[in-house]
Amino acid sequence: MILVYVDHDRGVLDELSLQAVAAARGLDTDVQAVMVGADAVTAAARLGEFGVTTTHVAVDPRITDYAPMATGRAVAQMARQMSPAAVLAVGSPRGNEVLAHASAIVDEPFAADCTAITLGDGVSHVTRNRWAGNVLEDARVHAPMLIASTALHAFAVDPVTGSGPAAVVEFAPELADADLAVRIVDRVGGGGGGVSLAEAKVVVSGGRGVGEGGFGPLEELAALLGGAVGCSRVVTSAGWRPHAEQVGQTGTKVAPDLYIAVGISGATQHIAGCKNAKTMIAINTDPDATIMSFADYAVIGDAATVMPALVDAVRAAKS
Ligand SMILES: Cc1cc2nc3c(=O)[nH]c(=O)nc-3n(C[C@H](O)[C@H](O)[C@H](O)COP(=O)(O)OP(=O)(O)OC[C@H]3O[C@@H](n4cnc5c(N)ncnc54)[C@H](O)[C@@H]3O)c2cc1C
Repeated sequence: MILVYVDHDRGVLDELSLQAVAAARGLDTDVQAVMVGADAVTAAARLGEFGVTTTHVAVDPRITDYAPMATGRAVAQMARQMSPAAVLAVGSPRGNEVLAHASAIVDEPFAADCTAITLGDGVSHVTRNRWAGNVLEDARVHAPMLIASTALHAFAVDPVTGSGPAAVVEFAPELADADLAVRIVDRVGGGGGGVSLAEAKVVVSGGRGVGEGGFGPLEELAALLGGAVGCSRVVTSAGWRPHAEQVGQTGTKVAPDLYIAVGISGATQHIAGCKNAKTMIAINTDPDATIMSFADYAVIGDAATVMPALVDAVRAAKS
């Protein structure tokens, strides 16, 4: 049996976690899930559509929103109780954080950001991203139970046609008050309700070349295409955009159908976050910018004139 930690945000299923469910189904036909929080119940049943037979939901009145240590404790408790061959989660910041806590609690190693997993009897083999995906490491993990996260977008979500809802079984995790020391207590600003960057099919991303006041047309284009705005670290470091929009090694890793890189040079650390885009368009004044070697299409020009023209053209095409 494989146990998968599946994340949610106030009851809304984290679609990225379904990638870990798909990876689990490649290892075993018996895939069960663990979720945390009373508001996870509806999403918990939905996992049946992706091949999960049973979802165990940790319910405690003190868990009202994401709490990493308490979640890790609940996952560890379920792992000890079920003795699965592996415990998986998707390698999102939250997935990695929860499994890091869980592995410390059960005192077993944790292999993060795996692109391939082969289970063995006491020794499993993993291939995992190192150095922002620039190096792939083949490793053996000596542990009776493999604890691993799947690299973002390494496993395709795989719905099971005709399957019913998963059985939902609630349990009470054994938590100390200290497990709730870190938890979300409030949310202010941001979160405009748009498409999440990590899951967006279109990302319109801006770099230094866009300039501090130049993001309006990028927002307009993203809205017209049903996508999200991203940016480079130069932009977040300058305080032009929030860190939540940063794409790259130390930001969000995206895999959209279309990535539009505007005024971005294409540094290794930025490419680490967008190299899985199916199609990339670069808009840049410099025809020799590094980003050109990753782009499928390029517009050599000033973002200040190209972007408004692009917005007008897309709006006209849609009307
Ligand atoms: C440990 C570490 C982690 C990092 N993590 C990240 C990360 O997660 N994400 C990230 O993005 N970076 C990251 N960086 C920073 C990274 O190395 C680069 O510095 C950064 O990506 C560059 O941002 P940029 O492309 O916006 O700026 P620049 O490199 O300055 O490029 C600006 C580009 O805009 C073009 N341009 C200028 N004017 C115009 C115009 N008017 N119209 C169109 N184009 C124009 C220029 O030709 C140039 O190509 C990290 C660095 C380190 C050391």
